[in-house]
Amino acid sequence: MKLLIKKGRIIEPSLGKDFVGDVLVENGVIVGIDSNIEISEKIQVIDASGKWVLPGLIDIHVHLRDPGEEWKEDIETGTKSALYGGVLRVACMPNTKPPNDSVEVTNYIIKKAKEKGWVEVYPIAAITKGQKGEELTEFGRLKSAGVVAVSDDGKWVRDSQLMREALLYAKQFDLTVISHTEDPKLSYKGQINKGKMSAKLGLKGVPASAEVVAAVRDLVLCKETNAKLHLAHISTKELIPFLKWAKEEGVPFTAETCPHYFLLTEEEVDGYNTYAKVNPPLRTAEDVEAIKLALKEGLIEVIASDHAPHSSLEKEVEFELASPGMIGVQLLLTLSYRLVEEGTLTPLKLAEYLITNPAKVINVDPPSLKKGSPAEVVIFDPEEKFVLTSEVIQSKSKNTPFLNKELKGKVKLVIRRKEVFTF
Ligand SMILES: [Zn+2]
Repeated sequence: MKLLIKKGRIIEPSLGKDFVGDVLVENGVIVGIDSNIEISEKIQVIDASGKWVLPGLIDIHVHLRDPGEEWKEDIETGTKSALYGGVLRVACMPNTKPPNDSVEVTNYIIKKAKEKGWVEVYPIAAITKGQKGEELTEFGRLKSAGVVAVSDDGKWVRDSQLMREALLYAKQFDLTVISHTEDPKLSYKGQINKGKMSAKLGLKGVPASAEVVAAVRDLVLCKETNAKLHLAHISTKELIPFLKWAKEEGVPFTAETCPHYFLLTEEEVDGYNTYAKVNPPLRTAEDVEAIKLALKEGLIEVIASDHAPHSSLEKEVEFELASPGMIGVQLLLTLSYRLVEEGTLTPLKLAEYLITNPAKVINVDPPSLKKGSPAEVVIFDPEEKFVLTSEVIQSKSKNTPFLNKELKGKVKLVIRRKEVFTF
């Protein structure tokens, strides 16, 4: 198989390049990347003019719900959803049933992903056994089995001494600790952001302090231990000055946000819209602006989806009973592209946030269009509009506030090793 992609806008963060040119793929490997490649023999040519050509994305915050909640999603449908979004590698969170706190569950995920997965799957193991926050899991054995990071996502490790030990233990194995920064006492029974909307709807609110208190403690422990820390799904403007402080101090942390935190506000939940119920909650327009500025300044340098599928059983219920979370892996590039459209990020910066920076967090080589790399290529049309109907969504669950809305920017073609997919 030989395939020539012509005249695309090549955006390659590993090379630090953004230029119009051609990419040549042969037998699942990149064999050429240049401003003009001429081939005399007859081969398949893809005209990519007006489109972006970039390496596959890495989404390091995905819930595949497998094992245990396969009615919401499984490894096959979750990864298919990723493929359609140009996300060719995902790291899956351990809050499955049972949680991934053992080599057995890690092995199960890796085996099933090999058999049924459409993209590469990297398991993330729990920090503590059963995610109970009491006893650390066996990081060394888990790393040998294939986990790329540890996290108790969904829960914050409340015991500061245990978190300190987790950071030191993770450092021995060069694993990043990913923190779900939410103080559960401060967010107790919280349904949405604490503010105007919670007052209007009469729902218990989650104050910004729930995120700030948790994140700052973790930054302080990170500074002291010099271990790698990653702060998941940052949502509040109040935290940003502390991120700035930590960067200035050289604390070895990274921070992530998700498209819903720079695109949506608490207004979305008006009318008790359970599809906009998410954890941490959607905040205010001021928070959205602060998150964008933090992205622009590089204080937040990873964008992930926090893909959290829930079936209608968990969403079409009274607001207080509805599970928090929304799907998003298929929309990661489409929604993040808005940052380029409005001038917050350059295309190259965006590609760093979606490809090279997440790769660093989980300590893997990023997909690349460099000569000799395995083919992981995405062609994205920034102009194409489409309506996100439930048929378009590849996930088993359809829980997103973008359902039936018109979106702009669509992944058109994916090459993954020897396979070519067109959408
Ligand atoms: Zn989380």
